[in-house]
Amino acid sequence: MLNALDMFSIGIGPSSSHTIGPMKAALLFIDRLKSNNLLDKVFRLEVHLFGSLALTGEGHGTVFAVLNGLCGEDPKTVNPDKFMLLVEQIKTTGKINLAGIHHIGFNYDSDMLLHKKEFLPQHANGIRFIALGKDQHELMCREYFSVGGGFVLDQEQIKEAKLADNNTSVPYVFSTADELMALCLRDNLTIAALAFKNHLAIQTEEQIRHDAMDIVNVMHESVLRGISTPGTLPGGLNVRRRAPGLYEKINESNLQTDSGLQRLAAMAYAIGVNEENAAFSKIVTAPTNGAAGTIPGVLEYYRNFCEDVTDAKLIDFILTAGTIGLLYKFGASISAAEVGCQGEIGVACSMAAGALTAVLGGSVSQVEKAAEIAMEHSLGMTCDPIGGLVQIPCIERNGVAASRAIDIAKLVLLEPEPGRVSLDSVIKTMMQTGRDMQMQYKETSLGGLAVNVANC
Ligand code: SF4
Repeated sequence: MLNALDMFSIGIGPSSSHTIGPMKAALLFIDRLKSNNLLDKVFRLEVHLFGSLALTGEGHGTVFAVLNGLCGEDPKTVNPDKFMLLVEQIKTTGKINLAGIHHIGFNYDSDMLLHKKEFLPQHANGIRFIALGKDQHELMCREYFSVGGGFVLDQEQIKEAKLADNNTSVPYVFSTADELMALCLRDNLTIAALAFKNHLAIQTEEQIRHDAMDIVNVMHESVLRGISTPGTLPGGLNVRRRAPGLYEKINESNLQTDSGLQRLAAMAYAIGVNEENAAFSKIVTAPTNGAAGTIPGVLEYYRNFCEDVTDAKLIDFILTAGTIGLLYKFGASISAAEVGCQGEIGVACSMAAGALTAVLGGSVSQVEKAAEIAMEHSLGMTCDPIGGLVQIPCIERNGVAASRAIDIAKLVLLEPEPGRVSLDSVIKTMMQTGRDMQMQYKETSLGGLAVNVANC
C-alpha cells in the first residue's frame, strides 16, 4: 500500500535510484541473511551491479551506498561525513563488517562487479548479491531492483501486479487522476484532505502531522545549507556551488516586494538543495534525489513570499504533492532509467505546480490542470548527466523547474476552466514517450550532454 507521504523519504544524496535504493537493497539482503541464521556463516560476498547502476553507479555513489548498506547503515540515519570514509576503509583494509557485526574479507576489485553491458531483463537498475560459505558454496543469492524514488523490489515482488492494485486497505482507492478527482468531488474533499484520510488508515493524526512536518523541516534545512555553503562539488567535474552567490545577489535589493526576484530566489533555493544532494548531504527524495530541489524550492518560495502560511498549509502542500506523485508511480514511472528525466524533474515540477496551486486556493480541477501543464511541457526530457554525476544538467534543471512550477500555478489560478489535455492522458503519454526513448538517454550517460560536453 502506498500513501502520499511515501513519495518522500529523508536520506542521503546524490540519487534515489542509484544511492538510496541500492543501500536499502543491501540492507534487505543483510536482513535476509540474518533472519535465515546465515550471516555468521558468510565467508565471502559478491556484489553485481547491472545496467544503469553499473554505467552511472560510480558517479551516482552506488558502490558507496551498497557497501554502507552491507555494513548496516540506513540512508535516513547515515552520517554523510562517514559515508565515504567507510568505503576508503574497506578498500585499504580489504575487510568489510557485515551488519556491523561480522567481519569478512572483501576485495573491492574482484568482489564489486560492474556489468556495464548487461541489463537484467526485469528492470534497468538490477543488483545481485551472492553470499558464499567457507568452502565457496553459495549460501544465498538474491536480486533486487531499484525502481526509482528509493523504492526497491526483490526478485519476487517485481513479478507481481502493479502497486496500485495492492492499494485496497485505505478508504479512498484510486490509481488515476480522474478517479482521484471523482472521489474528491463526491465527498467534497481537497486532495490533501483525501490523502490525510487515507493516511489515517495506518497512522494517528499526530503521526501524520509529525511525519509531514519532518519532511517540511528537512527540506527547509537543506535550502538553508544550500544557499550558505560555498565550494566545489565532489566527483571531478569541478562544479562550483552557485547557490550562495546567486542568493546573495538576489537578496541585495527588493526581494520582499519584487515577484521576479522572488522567482529567482526559488531557483536559488532549488539549486542549493541539489548542490547539497550532489555533495552527499541530507535531503528529501522528492520524488527522486536528482529532482530533490524542485519541491523544496517552491515550498520555500511559498513560506517566504506568500500570505497566511501555516503549518497546516505546509502539510497540505506536502500531501497534495505526494498524491500527484502517486499518480505517476501508479500510471507511469519515476525512474529515469525507465523514462528519462521526465520521470524525475518532470514529475517533481508537476507535483510542485499542483501543490502550490492547492495552497494558493485553487480547486481540485485547477490542481489537476497545473500538474498536467507541468508534465505536458516536460515530455521527452532526457537523462544525460555528464560524467554520470548528478550535477550537470540536474542542479540547474531543478532551478528552472521550480520557477516553471510557480508560473504554472499563477497561470492556472487565473483560469478556472478545465484544460483540453487531462493529467491522465499526459501521464500515459509520458510513459509511452519513455518507452520509445533510446537507452542512451535513460540514465546511462551514453548520449546527449554526457557525450557532447567535455568532462573537465
Ligand atoms: S538528468 Fe534528470 S533524471 Fe538524469 S540524473 Fe539528472 S536529474 Fe536525474
